[in-house]
Amino acid sequence: MSNQEWITRGDALFMQTYGRFPAVMVEGRGCRLKDADGKEYLDFLSGIAVCSLGHCYPPITEAICRQAATLLHVSNLYYTMPQTELAELLVANSFADRVFFCNSGAEANEAAIKLARKASPAGRYEIISLEGSFHGRTLATVAATGQKKFHEGFEPLPEGFRHAPFGDLAALEAMITPATCAILCEPLQGEGGVRPLAREYLQGIRALCDRHGLLLLFDEVQVGMGRTGSLFAYEQFGIVPDILTLAKALGNGLPIGAMLAAEKVAAAFTPGTHASTFGGNPVACAAAVVAVRTMLAEGFLAGVTAKGRYLAARLDELAQRYPRLAVRSRGLGLIQGLLLTDQGKELGPRIVQGLFRQGLLANFAGNIALRFLPPLIVTEAEIDEAMAILTALFAEVAG
Ligand SMILES: *Cc1c(COP(=O)(O)O)cnc(C)c1O
Repeated sequence: MSNQEWITRGDALFMQTYGRFPAVMVEGRGCRLKDADGKEYLDFLSGIAVCSLGHCYPPITEAICRQAATLLHVSNLYYTMPQTELAELLVANSFADRVFFCNSGAEANEAAIKLARKASPAGRYEIISLEGSFHGRTLATVAATGQKKFHEGFEPLPEGFRHAPFGDLAALEAMITPATCAILCEPLQGEGGVRPLAREYLQGIRALCDRHGLLLLFDEVQVGMGRTGSLFAYEQFGIVPDILTLAKALGNGLPIGAMLAAEKVAAAFTPGTHASTFGGNPVACAAAVVAVRTMLAEGFLAGVTAKGRYLAARLDELAQRYPRLAVRSRGLGLIQGLLLTDQGKELGPRIVQGLFRQGLLANFAGNIALRFLPPLIVTEAEIDEAMAILTALFAEVAG
């Protein structure tokens, strides 16, 4: 059956929450996908920063199959070995002492919000996040998200969330009240248009938290797990958060999320205060163990940094050639955006559709930047191939 037949069947059934590209993906390998019509794509989105080791990375597939044939699920009434192994790896390679496992980014942020409130003195519950941020689609994480379009129609949202103007430390400090317990931010806003937070800004936020006795929560759901060239993005800013959330690339495609914290904060989660039936599922954890080990292997993260620089340089060249459409690249490691001009922004959706037709998967983030999230195993040759498609499309839309 063709793409179109499956799309027609699906469209009659699914809640209409997604604007999807017209492809039914059937197979993936490395940086390539194939659809039901046999068309091939070069995937520069990785399932939204998820399949960082590429599609169907054989060691992950093997770990999944082995674990699925041994033990699929028991709940957290019992211990399992892969969960412990994964927690050991995350703790050994981060600031954290303890881990809570869940199934998605929104759930990891929900856990972080609950822990921040629980670990704070009574009467302190308010969390300040930043304008332009994205923290998930559950009610509390929607409330934390600093973009109005995600709030509309869902009011009343849970109380205790405020949004500070992006990049303004004084305005952020002015919003702190005796009820504030934490500041929540992404070290680089992914959905918000691949917008990095300056080093001094992040350090200033850390200092504000210290001065006012607030917890600092980093949402690294998109930028954690090697995406920026370090295992966690915070490592590059000379500061340490109190709570860190992960999901997307953690399981390389299996759903898993995690919330990490230092002992003195984590101690607030006592038995019965939080839980998840599926959280830390042994199969997802077995996949994540392989993902983390692969990223920690000699040279892997240095390669991400080098390839990220290469992609950024190529995007900057393109921006120089087409100044009417694009301004420059921005990003860290292999999360790169091509910032578009006002004229370029109008064409953003058309550019992304054009790339799709030419077999390159990318998207338009925050209505401002073309976003590229290739698998971290992408080669320079594949980056060149993507750039050739992008350059040809720019020539077409500019002409
Ligand atoms: C994707 C994302 C989330 C939500 O993750 P889900 O797994 O879709 O719930 C939260 N925060 C950030 C920064 C994200 O990019």
